[in-house]
Amino acid sequence: HFRRLYEQTPTSRSFHERARDVTPLGVESNVRSVRPYPFYLGEADGSYVYDVDGNEYLDFLMGLGPGILGHNYPDVVDRVESQIEACGSVTAIPQTIAIEVMEQIESMTPSVEKLRLANSGTEATMHAIRVARSYTGNSKIAKPEGGYAGAHDYALQSVSASEEALGPEDDPETVPYGTGIPDAVTDTVVAFPFNDEEATERILREHADDLACVILEPVMASCGVLPPDEGYHEFLRELTEELDIVLIWDEVMTGFRLGPGSAQGRFGVTPDMTTFAKVAGGGYQLAAFGGREDLMAEIEPPAENPKDKWKTSAFHGGTYNGHPVSCAAGLATLEVLEEEPVFETIEPLAERLFDGLQVAADEAGVEASVQYVGSMGTLFMLDEAPTTQRETWQADDDLFRDWWFEAAASGVLFGNDDQYERFFTSYTNTDEQIDFALEVAEDAFRRVR
Ligand code: PMP
Repeated sequence: HFRRLYEQTPTSRSFHERARDVTPLGVESNVRSVRPYPFYLGEADGSYVYDVDGNEYLDFLMGLGPGILGHNYPDVVDRVESQIEACGSVTAIPQTIAIEVMEQIESMTPSVEKLRLANSGTEATMHAIRVARSYTGNSKIAKPEGGYAGAHDYALQSVSASEEALGPEDDPETVPYGTGIPDAVTDTVVAFPFNDEEATERILREHADDLACVILEPVMASCGVLPPDEGYHEFLRELTEELDIVLIWDEVMTGFRLGPGSAQGRFGVTPDMTTFAKVAGGGYQLAAFGGREDLMAEIEPPAENPKDKWKTSAFHGGTYNGHPVSCAAGLATLEVLEEEPVFETIEPLAERLFDGLQVAADEAGVEASVQYVGSMGTLFMLDEAPTTQRETWQADDDLFRDWWFEAAASGVLFGNDDQYERFFTSYTNTDEQIDFALEVAEDAFRRVR
């Protein structure tokens, strides 16, 4: 099924040969490694990307999430350009644009009383975990099985693993995602099964005295979209409060994607801390972590003795924190989200897209289940919608990849060729584009059938 795409992408193929000489897999991030080779970008505009061979693709990958307004949205481009003219490079002197974007995030997120900026979701979760450890004096953290919280060592636990290594379903093992992660780190992470209240409570109570935080995505989205069961977040909020465990919602994916108030606004649950990236930076490298003022105060060293300050506070620093160009892009994006009917547009389009995909698969006789929340969703090659990460594993990866290749060759990117990534609608999408995408999807289902 790769043949059509292969024939259309000779220039990408030759770039891939060059790229493989300088970088592992020929890509800059492991999640970009479309097999046997990816196509390389020529241009991007609105809902579309164009590869170096000039092929056009209707893009629902949207940069793995940031592109809620589509590519190169005029307000964002204008703001970025004027920031570059004023001062686009980092100065390490505080810039007022950073205050503006932090005020904007805070005003859209009532649970965030104080926050700090960072450059990626990975940094944001790393620092949020450090703050929670500093505040509680405890070392352990708890994560749901299958949950992604970035690429640092603490977060790369229980993301995924070989099926044999997982342990019992209601008492999962903590398995490192890949090699190179010290045992000392693995030993500080506790895994629990998402959506299983009984097991979650037993495991958290058992480790409560050693736990600094629970960190989780409000909608699991990095093992494919798995929505929370009714009441699960309320239960987890009450339990963590009772046990004095800091509850961190990793809203890197869901933040400003599931509404102007993010997932916490949508579900009406208030975490102690939150991490943001992706949409918050409007496609530029901006991330943030923040929450209750007493927690964020861990970062603030007592002023009296400068020599002792590092001993008494949780360190957070970074040359590029509050980068002015990223702040400009983030601010412009968040303002558009507040001022324009973005969610009223992208969510009905998503409903049409995701429901339409389910119908198309059913009509073609392909076993597939679509699952979505708001404007993000996943197509699992499974006959029933999964509720746990373990169930997602029964999905047929090769069938998805074949279908994805066929759709890409016809000009639509339903995410990337890994079915556990999500795909998104964006503000530049139109009904006609959704019609086209569904036609292509239908044809692709028939071809793989
Ligand atoms: N947390 C979640 C929930 C994510 O989805 C991601 C990225 N997919 C991250 C953290 C890490 O963000 P980044 O890739 O910007 O480091």
